[in-house]
Amino acid sequence: MVGNARRGDLPADAEGSADASRRRAGYAALAGRPNVGKSTLLNHLLGRKLSITSRKPQTTRHALMGVMNHAGAQIVFVDTPGIHQAQGKALNRYMVGQAVGSLAGVDVALMLVEAGGWRDADDIVLQRIAEAQVPCLCIVNKIDRLRSKERLLPLIDTLRHKHPFQEIVPVSALRNDGLAHLADVVAHCLPEGEPMFGEDEVTDRPLRFLIGEIIREKAVRRLGAELPHQTAVVVDSIKPFKDKAGPCTEIHAVLYVERESQKRIAIGNRGAMLKSIGQQARKDIEVLIDGKAMINLWVKVETNWSDRRRALLRLGYGS
Ligand code: GDP
Ligand code: MG
Repeated sequence: MVGNARRGDLPADAEGSADASRRRAGYAALAGRPNVGKSTLLNHLLGRKLSITSRKPQTTRHALMGVMNHAGAQIVFVDTPGIHQAQGKALNRYMVGQAVGSLAGVDVALMLVEAGGWRDADDIVLQRIAEAQVPCLCIVNKIDRLRSKERLLPLIDTLRHKHPFQEIVPVSALRNDGLAHLADVVAHCLPEGEPMFGEDEVTDRPLRFLIGEIIREKAVRRLGAELPHQTAVVVDSIKPFKDKAGPCTEIHAVLYVERESQKRIAIGNRGAMLKSIGQQARKDIEVLIDGKAMINLWVKVETNWSDRRRALLRLGYGS
């Protein structure tokens, strides 16, 4: 087992200014329907790639923490898989359980909605937040898509009627617009207290998990149309070694799919697809580990894994 991922070089503005006189610390859960931009927001707030993102809904399967030290406060963000109706497959039920579970006991919930307008799926999220009885901020994301800020007014009006939000904060996670102000607002919602994590700790997830998620992101992006949500990645080993070119980390990982036909697609013509997934993942992994990486990626078939509880447990979904 490799130790927890450590903070590398963060942009200066992500650290905030230290205010030792009033230290605050607490948990902030990101909640919102799939695809509103929760993972993008977390990555941009932390200035580093933690959670994987994609244009396909439900890319995030595990609740994931990210620690931000900002203006004397320590904010522990909990990224959640999208909340939607818990129906059907074991994987869906697990994902909804993770999202709902992570709302209980947090100091503040951050409900994300899209600047484009309120949707029915947002009502389901809000219902969960109301049930959890936690203070809630509403983050209106993707404002970069609006032609003018006046177009936000009808949505803000709707939001005011929907729930007594502590505050409504418009942002563009993708363009880093409004994020410093958002961090200030979140910090003020936290109780006074000492930091819970060390200055250099940025996530509670081990390196093995982060590497697996990067590989899965690349696979989902390349294979999206063919394999919507039937891919899982297990990282078998991470071994540092030295060759003539210098130190390197050798990673063995397996990409699981559900059918032989999907395996052929994932491997591609003469292995071209798998090679390209590995190359794209390597670039991000090298940033993460701050060094050279070599990736050995294999594809295996695990029939209907997303619908079988035991297979889910073995692939790391659940405890
Ligand atoms: P999640 O399912 O809520 O975690 O959503 P993701 O963070 O994976 O984002 C879903 C999609 O929305 C991705 O294609 C993002 O690039 C895109 N996205 C996220 N934030 C913004 C934003 O502020 N502006 C725009 N235009 N797109 C965004
Ligand atoms: Mg996500």
